Amino acid sequence: MKILVINCGSSSLKYQLIDMETEKALAKGLVERIGIEGSILTQKAGEDKYVIETPMKDHQVAVELVLNALVDKEHGVISDMSEISAVGHRVVHGGEKYANSVLVNDDVLKNIEECIKLAPLHNPANIIGINACKKLMPNTPMVTVFDTAFHQTMPEQAYMYALPYEMYTKHGVRRYGMHGTSHKFVSLTAAEMMGKDIKDLKILTCHLGNGASCSAVDHGKCIDTSMGLTPLEGLVMGTRCGDMDPAIVPFLMKAEGLSIEEMDNLMNKKSGVLGVSGVSSDFRDIENAASEGNHRAQLALDVFHYRVKKYIGSYIAAMGGIDCLVFTAGLGENSISSREEICKGLEFFGIELDTEKNNVRGKAVEVSAEGSKVKIFVIPTNEELMIARDTMEIVNK
Ligand code: AMP
Repeated sequence: MKILVINCGSSSLKYQLIDMETEKALAKGLVERIGIEGSILTQKAGEDKYVIETPMKDHQVAVELVLNALVDKEHGVISDMSEISAVGHRVVHGGEKYANSVLVNDDVLKNIEECIKLAPLHNPANIIGINACKKLMPNTPMVTVFDTAFHQTMPEQAYMYALPYEMYTKHGVRRYGMHGTSHKFVSLTAAEMMGKDIKDLKILTCHLGNGASCSAVDHGKCIDTSMGLTPLEGLVMGTRCGDMDPAIVPFLMKAEGLSIEEMDNLMNKKSGVLGVSGVSSDFRDIENAASEGNHRAQLALDVFHYRVKKYIGSYIAAMGGIDCLVFTAGLGENSISSREEICKGLEFFGIELDTEKNNVRGKAVEVSAEGSKVKIFVIPTNEELMIARDTMEIVNK
């Protein structure tokens, strides 16, 4: 079975065609600048790279080009579109309706539309992508995989903000969490690597990339996660501030004369390690600057690591201990020094890193010391494969 995984942004579209027998991507591609000048599709299949530069006025044209690229005589990986058994779509926000992936129908599309108020930048693009695929592949089953679904098992005490209750009932203001597909994938992989059933384990997952979040996965169920109503809550990120005193919002709006949009932009785009360091939002640049003695770059790293450490402590308390700790995403998979800094001082909890084993990037390996009570893993995330697995399971039902 071959499954096409689609992740649509407002002007971009990422895709992978995955062969479910081997769970390997036959082709991966990115379409950029949809609807604006300079539209471009880049597809990689093994060593082959295929680039199409042509105007793409909307997502439907982009999807059409993706399908053409996949069946292209010279660069394609399948001979006919009918070889695609199903399409899995990443959808950012499923609100409270979806704790699992679902087959697309009119009701589902309506519900995703209702969630636009919770994800105004992402859900509209996801809907456009689904509709474009439906038009071009009317007989192929489509599945939506929600970024929020894995966190829907959080108990009330974890998702409720201490605001007037009507803010929840009237506006849906509660914690939803993001990166669910990634947290699900790496917690399942960790259980596999431990040779145990996920239902017998307490797993703490750290997705540390440009966006970052931690999750507490207790016996296979997410019971807490660090992102909230939006991805702004929780850890310090590339450009997002994460947790802070909410009174800072009106304080700075007054002090700096900022509009709502400007304040929102300051917290989402100008803060995080970029804001503190003044160097970059990319951790590699910050690590380089810090090693050259840049104080603010070092401070940004310290603030970031300290926040992750505090979340690890709080989720250990929430689950009453952990069996394993997982690092994933760009920084989690690749930054040897960040993993070392975060684990430093956590020996009290039975978390002991092996500095030699930790000298690794982008591979699924155990990096805990011999005898460490808590197993520590580096696991490259694979959200596309998780989406494809969910899609296959639903289509086969
Ligand atoms: P993601 O959002 O998961 O793609 O992660 C992107 C982040 O991972 C960027 O901030 C990168 O700086 C960081 N990253 C990727 N590779 C490395 C590396 N080798 N060392 C440190 N950070 C890295």
